[in-house]
Amino acid sequence: MTARIIDGKSIAAEIRAEVAAGVEALIGRGGPVPTLATVLVGDNPASATYLRAKRTAAAEVGIGTFDHTLSGNATQQEVESFVTELSDDPRVHGILIQLPLPIDLDEQSVLTRIRIEKDVDGFHPINLGRLAQKGSDPLFIPCTPAGCLTLLKRSGARLEGSRAVVLGRSNIVGMPVALLLIKHDATVTVCHSRTRDLPQVCRGADILIAAVGQAELVRGDWIRPGATVIDVGINRVEDPTTERGYRIVGDVAYHEAIEVAGSITPVPGGVGPMTVAGLLQNTLHAAEIAHDRSAA
Ligand code: NAD
Repeated sequence: MTARIIDGKSIAAEIRAEVAAGVEALIGRGGPVPTLATVLVGDNPASATYLRAKRTAAAEVGIGTFDHTLSGNATQQEVESFVTELSDDPRVHGILIQLPLPIDLDEQSVLTRIRIEKDVDGFHPINLGRLAQKGSDPLFIPCTPAGCLTLLKRSGARLEGSRAVVLGRSNIVGMPVALLLIKHDATVTVCHSRTRDLPQVCRGADILIAAVGQAELVRGDWIRPGATVIDVGINRVEDPTTERGYRIVGDVAYHEAIEVAGSITPVPGGVGPMTVAGLLQNTLHAAEIAHDRSAA
């Protein structure tokens, strides 16, 4: 058996086209150009690269950006007052703080300075709390988890009543993706670094989401035949045969997994492009909220 490949690149392209049409429609009914403020603290090269990709993608769908870089020595108070200013700025519809922040800054405290209606990353405790509560919905869902869910839905996976296993319990991927799956009536097991018998737990999964940051941790024989596998991991492994000296692999041993799974996301080209597409969707949504409020 060879798994069907869930093509995140082309699904993300469809979403970006939908967002571009949404931006035009919003402007057409007198709304603003959706505008995203990005904040980078320090000079982490990976963060700078991610931000550049996000800004380029925003420009391609007609979303404006204000780009801000603060010194890596900025104090907690300086970062928080800067974010508060952006929160109060009516020209800004969405705010993206590129994580991780330098180690001595309190991330949670910074994130709470974002007004929830501008929280396009969906990491504000109120938005995350709403995701966890029955009967309430967040204004924004974190982009990577939302991307995982879209890939599951558009690949035809059945969520209701399914057994889902999520590897990883981070605030930005594992935990919100687990909450989202519960909202969609899956029965969810969340695994982490202390979980015992991980392969055995994974073998029970109809839907397996790997977000641990360990290259090819999940082997083919951990996967239930026919399962849907979403690989969130982005890991560099040395590869002297490539020009850069490394290649990117996921948390799943892809070549083993495709022999067993029913469908699977590749790395790269699976979840990664969906994360950026989700940010664009959320920014459009933030501008729509601002426009609807100003019109009310
Ligand atoms: P994290 O380091 O914050 O969390 C990792 C989680 O995995 C933790 O909960 C930890 O307990 C668990 N874990 C670690 N080792 C484990 C093991 N051996 N067995 C079981 N659980 C284990 O990471 P994160 O920010 O959630 O990111 C996870 C991966 O997803 C990384 O590779 C990251 O680069 C990638 N990522 C990709 C995207 C994307 O757009 N595709 C977005 C965010 C993160």
